[in-house]
Amino acid sequence: MLEADFLLTNAGRLATVAAHPAPPLEGPLGVLRDGALAARNGRIVWVGAQAEVAQAVTLIPRARRLDAAGALVLPGFVDSHTHLVFAGHRAGEFHERLRGATYAELLAQGRGILATVGATRAASAADLEASARQRMARCLAHGTTTLEAKSGYGLSLADEIKCLHVVAALRDGPPRLVSTCMAAHTVPPEYRADRAAYVRLVCDQILPAARPLADFCDVFCETGAFDVAESRTILERARDLGYKLKLHANQLGHSGGAALAAELNAISADHLDFTTDADLAALRDASVVATLLPGCSYTLRHAYPDGRQWLDAGLKLSLATDLNPGSSYTENMQFVIGLAISFCGITVAEALRAATLGGAQALQFDTEIGSLEVGKRCDLTVWDTTDEEEIGYHVGVNLVKRVVVDGAIAI
Ligand SMILES: [Zn+2]
Repeated sequence: MLEADFLLTNAGRLATVAAHPAPPLEGPLGVLRDGALAARNGRIVWVGAQAEVAQAVTLIPRARRLDAAGALVLPGFVDSHTHLVFAGHRAGEFHERLRGATYAELLAQGRGILATVGATRAASAADLEASARQRMARCLAHGTTTLEAKSGYGLSLADEIKCLHVVAALRDGPPRLVSTCMAAHTVPPEYRADRAAYVRLVCDQILPAARPLADFCDVFCETGAFDVAESRTILERARDLGYKLKLHANQLGHSGGAALAAELNAISADHLDFTTDADLAALRDASVVATLLPGCSYTLRHAYPDGRQWLDAGLKLSLATDLNPGSSYTENMQFVIGLAISFCGITVAEALRAATLGGAQALQFDTEIGSLEVGKRCDLTVWDTTDEEEIGYHVGVNLVKRVVVDGAIAI
């Protein structure tokens, strides 16, 4: 008998999202019908048939029990790309763009990302922490149990460190956070006349100071942000300091970011709205996870990235919100799953895999989270439906009923 301090019973469909599902697990998501799951000290110790749980598991005193009452159970979502920490919002410019204003016009007025940089610099760490905590609560309520959180609206040594301290203070969640330094989000206004000086500031001061606070370094490699040479300089410095690498690549054009991600063996390349067959082959051969961010296409009314083409090219796929106040203001992974299946050419099973195990792979955290298998953290969601095919189809409402993180019932 296994001892457990958490027991989930009566899962009508328990989608394990096992890396290599084999019978009795069914289909691409490795579904166990009439399943149960037990955990001890936050880790899964047993997954099996409801009919066998009494013979297999014994509960310690004060163990937590959760009856799924026949509902669907999934691994918690892993949102591998968010800009969690920022002040203010940009609703005004969203509506102006709908009436025809362009992003370039807004930027020339000192708006766009510069408005968020100004507000974030002016905000106290306490206020940034309070607003980030509210967003985390929304993420959790919609089924996210781990999310990546980037800095990148400070763009000075003091303000980037301030934002990363906010992430550190919230790190244990729930949901738990993975921290990324994105000082190379854009060139701040005071360095527009001397871009090289800002690249030096990032390499010589911000990245070394941020290293104890962040696991990843991310760069926005794009026309108007950082070109390939600047991005390579920053990312090579980051790699030497021990950061794992990510890129915002090929969102607005053929920036060269995808090829750079492959060259530098980045963990993930995100956006990839514009790619060639050679880009996709290079990313696949370098095992770079491709991150689909359809919330940006919705908000900016751009064409959607072609997730089908990425999967057919043999890439590993992650699906994330890109939560940020400019181009994708949503905490809701269920919404981006809906967008991905309607507009990016992937099935609901492929989207759910990308939103769980794929997200974990994009954070190089898939030995710990992303699927419901013995040895992994016990992060799961219980749904207000019995069938995963309802997700992305029944939209605009929250179908997540209960959320468990590290074997503790969070919602
Ligand atoms: Zn982003």
